Amino acid sequence: MSRYWSAVVHGLTPYVPGEQPKLDNFVKLNTNEHPYGPSPLALEAIRAVTGATLRLYPDPNAEALKAALAGYHGLRADQVFVGNGSDEVLAHAFLALLKQEQPLWFPDITYSFYPVYCGLYGIRSETVPLAGDYSIRTEDYLPGPGRRPGGIIFPNPNAPTGRLMPLADVERVVAANPEVVVVVDEAYVDFGGDSAIPLVDQYPNLLVVQTFSKSRSLAGLRVGFALGHPTLIEALERVKNSFNSYPLDRLAIAGAVASVQDEAHFQACRRKVMATRETLVTGLSGLGFEVLPSAANFIFVRHSTRDAAELALALRQRAIIVRHFRLPRIDQFLRITVGTDEQCSSLVDALAEILGS
Ligand SMILES: *Cc1c(COP(=O)(O)O)cnc(C)c1O
Repeated sequence: MSRYWSAVVHGLTPYVPGEQPKLDNFVKLNTNEHPYGPSPLALEAIRAVTGATLRLYPDPNAEALKAALAGYHGLRADQVFVGNGSDEVLAHAFLALLKQEQPLWFPDITYSFYPVYCGLYGIRSETVPLAGDYSIRTEDYLPGPGRRPGGIIFPNPNAPTGRLMPLADVERVVAANPEVVVVVDEAYVDFGGDSAIPLVDQYPNLLVVQTFSKSRSLAGLRVGFALGHPTLIEALERVKNSFNSYPLDRLAIAGAVASVQDEAHFQACRRKVMATRETLVTGLSGLGFEVLPSAANFIFVRHSTRDAAELALALRQRAIIVRHFRLPRIDQFLRITVGTDEQCSSLVDALAEILGS
């Protein structure tokens, strides 16, 4: 607190990211990073950037990246927006599209940045409880008499549950809400979901947001993007150009373009993560954990008898970090990132030891 702070700052409740330990002797399964690293072509493209070009500002429109993404997803460049991580893309979407008179709807258990953006931009919101099995109930997002949203946002698969909403249900929500924008945050969709991108041409109120941080293993580069009708994209550009002309630097543009061009690396790495996830699910189920069905690169688990916070602490003492949220309804769950096979078997072995003691 300081008397120099603005009233806005006094009222903020910032997002708290998962820990990034300074030492690297941890098995780090707490922030859903990809274990295998980015495409070697992306690293090569980043290394090829020269001082002669770094002297200059980057392309404010990142046209090379927009063209690469448009080509990859079968859309036009005016249907693509890019930003400094999908967190920034989401932030712009909250201000540009989701700040309306009626409240924004999102699940009670979801990505905890959403309420933070609502606080930052003064957006009214209403949380919609997940079903008892932690799935998103599609019916709850259909407007009814006296009940309509100012906008809708949810991750698919949801975070931190990992549960997937079938594409037909996503389409039902989008089609039932033509008056407002529906943002589908697909940070994890490449690990087992059907993307809503094919619906973008058909629904002018749909915005799909994705990131290079998870399935493309470039969390450190900070690249995210949104796909939608040119009118929605224009709204995001207006906010972006009122905030930062150059959110993507030359390294980010070069690395992201090369990543999109390396389909073989992308497919191989995401398949490997999905295969390891199934092994991990089997291992933890065998130790008495309930595992929610996951279409993401993490799983959400709870033990039948042991307290989640105690388990997280015992793992940390064995140099394994997982994520525990001290939040209503989910405080007995652990969110565990799918790492390499070796990391995951270290985790299963450690838990077997902890549970046996
Ligand atoms: C990780 C994550 C993001 C943000 O990713 P960036 O690194 O900012 O691109 C957005 N939404 C969800 C649900 C996430 O888990």
